[in-house]
Amino acid sequence: MPSRTNFSPDGRQAPSALLLCLFLPFFLAFSVKIQDNPYNTVNSHSISCPTVDKKFLLKLPVGRPADVVLTGPERTNACEQLQAAVGNCLSLVMDSLTGKIIYTRNIDHRGKRIRITWEGKKLAKAIDDHTITVKVLASKSWETSTDSLLLGGAYMGNNVTGIYRTTFDQPSKRVLVETRQEVNTVNTGTISNYYEKPGEDMLHEVIESYIGGKYSQKSGISDKPAPHSLYYVAAHKAAPSQSGQIYIRSYGYVAPTATSAAQVDSIVFYVKTDNKNELKIRTLFKPPKTP
Ligand SMILES: [Zn+2]
Repeated sequence: MPSRTNFSPDGRQAPSALLLCLFLPFFLAFSVKIQDNPYNTVNSHSISCPTVDKKFLLKLPVGRPADVVLTGPERTNACEQLQAAVGNCLSLVMDSLTGKIIYTRNIDHRGKRIRITWEGKKLAKAIDDHTITVKVLASKSWETSTDSLLLGGAYMGNNVTGIYRTTFDQPSKRVLVETRQEVNTVNTGTISNYYEKPGEDMLHEVIESYIGGKYSQKSGISDKPAPHSLYYVAAHKAAPSQSGQIYIRSYGYVAPTATSAAQVDSIVFYVKTDNKNELKIRTLFKPPKTP
């Protein structure tokens, strides 16, 4: 009989959706007041995430850049998924040189700001916090840079810089932190779209990384990649929920962090809901031994 386990797209054993939901009210209570972001710079290298009607765009503010940074060959795709997650309350723009994401509050046809969603607040807070730089490596890779399985996203820890000044020479009482997160954008897109919550998994990865950075900022201790991380579990739970479960069906031996067919007998990662056919994310079979 195949064994079946719930997995998160982070590639770890996931808490139930119910458990994740229990954390929502807690973070709603602490959600911050979001203001327009007057410190962001847009230049000729900017790329818009093309999912928002441009007539609702506010004039882009000028000033200093913001601090969610997308890198890697799939960063435009990652930006588009983030845009999908925040809907039309924010317009996201990525600088193609630095990968920095900025946002503007959108306005409606009467010139009033569109009400910011909970997801929008979370992303805006991460962008506005110049003491924590969230760095996301976006690719189509099946493996992280440390050779672990990369199904959706992976928490790769962070570095506390030990510096108490912002990157713009402004005094800060908080130490600077630079985080690392890696995402397979094909899979995050596939999973979110399957569960009909576009962008939710990408938003989860960005905010999880940011929250891990907040923990490290408070303790002063840099964090390691999961599963050896100090703060991964707490950050995963506190981040916006993933769109749905990734399930695993395995036959025979499976290495705990299997990344290649040689490490398993047979394994299938898939998503499913009651009203849709199961969708396979990845299947691995051990190659037959040559005589
Ligand atoms: Zn997670």
